[in-house]
Amino acid sequence: MPEVAELPMSTPIWQVADYGFESAETYADVINERREGQVYGRYGNPTLEALAKVMASLEKAESAWVFSSGMGAIHATLMHFASSGSRVVVAPAIYGGTYGLLTQGFPRAGIDVDFVDLADEAALERALERPAACVLVETIANPTFRVSDIERVARLCKAQGVPLVVDNTVASPVLVNPLDLGATIVLHSTSKYIGGHHDLMGGVVCGASELLDGIRHLAIRYGTTASAFESWLALRGVATLGLRMQRQSENALAIARELEAGGAEVSYPFLESHPDNTLAVTMLRWGGGMIAVDLGSQNAAWRFMNACRIARVGSSFGGVRSELTHPATTSHRQFDQADREAAGIGDGLVRISVGIEDLEDLLEDFKQAMEEV
Ligand code: PLP
Repeated sequence: MPEVAELPMSTPIWQVADYGFESAETYADVINERREGQVYGRYGNPTLEALAKVMASLEKAESAWVFSSGMGAIHATLMHFASSGSRVVVAPAIYGGTYGLLTQGFPRAGIDVDFVDLADEAALERALERPAACVLVETIANPTFRVSDIERVARLCKAQGVPLVVDNTVASPVLVNPLDLGATIVLHSTSKYIGGHHDLMGGVVCGASELLDGIRHLAIRYGTTASAFESWLALRGVATLGLRMQRQSENALAIARELEAGGAEVSYPFLESHPDNTLAVTMLRWGGGMIAVDLGSQNAAWRFMNACRIARVGSSFGGVRSELTHPATTSHRQFDQADREAAGIGDGLVRISVGIEDLEDLLEDFKQAMEEV
């Protein structure tokens, strides 16, 4: 940073991928990490390193690294712990892309996957009797929005010396910091709440520096380091993350109550009817912006989605605009039928990502759409 009186109020985009060095010796020193400095875009960039610092501080981690997508973050993290012959233990309700990586990608690398209901303490204890490379769980599971008792799972993992990886994408660091509850690693798809504006792809992994060094090197090897521009968008998103989460949580709670009062089967962590409500209100600051509503059949789900005028049918979540997904046919299509049913992802389930729009407008929109079902 040059010595100037003024400082930029936003982090500049460092749009550089290639660097020149004063000598061959300096280049060799930097690329071998004997001396600090930038070397090549895939190895890092000041803008993405600024985002990594912010994310580490939000998740109360020693260190963080940012990736070109959430899947890039998950892949590098799991591969840091697992290798051919090892086994990963996972909660049954997870994002379909993660399920696809675990069930289609990992077997090719000789890595086994065990789906275990982590809410069942005895089942987890049994699963950990055999060696496991790590346990992976989503704080609030996409798309059932069941809540995991991170503290309890972390305690059981610690007893067996197994690292616990927590995907905190749906909750965001505003609702909870899993490292505080004993998790080993916390990761996010920054494409969702961190970015928050439907315009970026990214991921982040946070944890102890020693682990992050290894995970960062995998990002370099796999070519999944984030770009400067996407990191800049994420940094801009972080500035309003707290405000957005509060508004989206308030909107979502009111909508969940209204849908439930209308007779629908609704899953929202801060509803008294939610099976994990007691845990949720203790562990989470707010209930978050995601609701699952089960309308009984695919036909009813699609009719509801097509009737909404403000909330749009879309592929993602966590943005400022309300968005609707039918997981069974899209985000979770990778699941085989039995696993999908075991995870509680029915044909009639609609995933609602609640935005920051005016609450009265949203309530009216969902009400008229429910009348179509
Ligand atoms: N984790 C969760 C919980 C997700 O829902 C998603 C994507 O929907 C991902 C990870 C993957 O993130 P990305 O789409 O940025 O690769």
